Amino acid sequence: MDSQNLYDELKEMNQHLGATAAEFSQLHESLIELMEKNAELEIENQHLRDRINQITEKVGHNSPELSESRKNLEKLYNEGFHVCSSYYGKRRENGEDCIFCTEIIYGRRD
Ligand SMILES: [Zn+2]
Repeated sequence: MDSQNLYDELKEMNQHLGATAAEFSQLHESLIELMEKNAELEIENQHLRDRINQITEKVGHNSPELSESRKNLEKLYNEGFHVCSSYYGKRRENGEDCIFCTEIIYGRRD
């Protein structure tokens, strides 16, 4: 291989490396954007959960006198089971609050 060929090849390789480096930093930027977005969503999710808990508590305080049947439903719910018609008897995954269940236990009934 003469020196001209070697020089050309090195030059070409240098261009490829430059393109790869640019691609890498673009991917890196996208990753950071995604991580930021993810963190934002987690915070928003937490706020929504807190809000649901607040609402659930408030509704609970407004009707301290639960009927016997509602107390039984509340007991079941607190033991980790759904009492709503959609999921009745199923376990609440990771103890997640269910808005349908709380509506049934604490909601207004005319
Ligand atoms: Zn439920």
